[in-house]
Amino acid sequence: MKKAMMERYTLERFREASGKILAIVREAQSVEAARQALFAHVSQEQYEMYGTTTISLGAKLHIIRDCARVWRSLLTARSDERAGFSNIQALWDLSHERFRPDLQPGFYAEMLHMAQGLEGKAEHLHAETERASDSLKGREAAIRRSDGLDLLWASVEAKMSRYEDGLLENTQQRRLARRTKIRQGLGATDKQFSDWRWQVAHIARNEVELGRMVTLLPKEREAIKMAVGGRLPFGVTPYYASLLDEEPEAGRDCALRAQVIPPLEYVEKMLAHRSDRECAFDFMLERDTSPIDLITRRYPAIAILKPYNTCPQICVYCQRNWEIDEAMAPDALAAPEELNAAMDYIERHPALREILVTGGDPLALPDKTLLDILHRLAAMPHVEVIRIGTRTPVTLPMRITPRLANALGKFREPGRRELCIVTHIEHPYEITPDLVAAVDRFKRQGISIFNQHVYSFFVSRRFEAAKLRMLLRRSGIEPYYTFMTKGKEETNAYRVPLARLLQEQKEEARLLPGSRRTDEPVYNVPGLGKNYLRAFQHRDLLAVMPDGARVYDFHPWEKGITERASYVGNDVPLLQYLSRLDEIGENPDDYESIWYYY
Ligand code: SF4
Repeated sequence: MKKAMMERYTLERFREASGKILAIVREAQSVEAARQALFAHVSQEQYEMYGTTTISLGAKLHIIRDCARVWRSLLTARSDERAGFSNIQALWDLSHERFRPDLQPGFYAEMLHMAQGLEGKAEHLHAETERASDSLKGREAAIRRSDGLDLLWASVEAKMSRYEDGLLENTQQRRLARRTKIRQGLGATDKQFSDWRWQVAHIARNEVELGRMVTLLPKEREAIKMAVGGRLPFGVTPYYASLLDEEPEAGRDCALRAQVIPPLEYVEKMLAHRSDRECAFDFMLERDTSPIDLITRRYPAIAILKPYNTCPQICVYCQRNWEIDEAMAPDALAAPEELNAAMDYIERHPALREILVTGGDPLALPDKTLLDILHRLAAMPHVEVIRIGTRTPVTLPMRITPRLANALGKFREPGRRELCIVTHIEHPYEITPDLVAAVDRFKRQGISIFNQHVYSFFVSRRFEAAKLRMLLRRSGIEPYYTFMTKGKEETNAYRVPLARLLQEQKEEARLLPGSRRTDEPVYNVPGLGKNYLRAFQHRDLLAVMPDGARVYDFHPWEKGITERASYVGNDVPLLQYLSRLDEIGENPDDYESIWYYY
């Protein structure tokens, strides 16, 4: 963490900002009495602010409300027990001048902002400002507002233009040269390069092969070498390699490199768990939601079918990173008897109206094998929707041949059955004319395409995801889910705090037309399924840990239907996240309102 960021948040500064709170705690007779006194104070503070304030809602009133709610949640004995850490005990110790070496700047930063927020002293400014219409009415007010909105959009455009995309003329020119170089290096014709089978036969499987296609930084080379040496899955298609830049330091392709080149700490953690990977990395607890091999079921009317356990290219943070052995592993297709048993399971469960065929990447299967699987599903009267989960439009767009698109389109019987594609485009730089053409081949068959975005560190700068949404719609793809990154310890480098995702939704996505922000922000809770993040009533903030990590209690999706245990998960400390942004050249002040998203 950069020293400058840490120095902003010291115990002394926290004491200054939180004098009132510390005094209440100090005056209480016991920790329990302090808990009650502070709880009452927080409620009283909110009551008075709402009763007497002249502060407008747009400025800070909602922050007072949210901080009061969070304080109350943090102060309960239940929170202490669920989180395994007591914030009131920490405040008690601090107010009695007891040494707490465990408390770090991230903790003080959270407490300081919560104390300031409660008192209506939140320091952040609105991310954007628009000229108010003041006292104007009618057409005059509308013109003033329209002018303001033009200015607002101009600033949004300016911010989005920081991120290059694959449809820009410059990018296309650069990539044409990259493609020619890779193609010539592998002795291939243009026609061969555009053939998906040739691509699969030339997947870069180690640092030497990828190094021939693209400039690798020494640390990238080392990490790949270590991963491959430790038999971790690794693979990059020549097509995707052509999207990477010759000059990594230009920073345009960071998100793409992060998709396929594992960070060293990831490799080390994966290798440390070589023998117990199945348990250590099955973050989603798929083993507890798999009634039979190849099937995962978390909801009543949909199940996941995983007939094929490999992909043309390996994503570093793959949810099933313990299952996939190598890119296009020859033995990745499930055995016929296993697949039959899974199909029989679907057949025996007419509640299953929708089947997500994923893997691995089912579109990496040969046409006949894939179509046989789909025909079996389509023959079941209760299967109304077949979804195919695939990243081939991004990693191998030439796989979407007119013939394949046509064959898939035949599974659509409007009113009876739909077939749709769910893909995973992570960054605007991944959207290329090849990808757009592949999507178009599906669309011409009436096949809808949805995108699932993983909100990782490498796509989390201001307006980076907004730009992606703008391009997705333009390319015929509907933004569907935005996933909060998982708490998988080996993928820490990718994690983004929930507060940033909420901030992005409110301050960036909200500025886009409704058709561009159709994505639902979700957290895939282990063993439980999706927690919808937009509404705070689906979670509680239990505690702020000594390092500043927030601990959330995520409610089960079916809490209104049946009794089910919730899930407690630690988030990334906000100060740590802001510090990383600082390190890559972002101004942390541009993200200041993040402290007030809970
Ligand atoms: S495409 Fe999906 S299944 Fe394949 S490696 Fe990436 S995340 Fe995993």
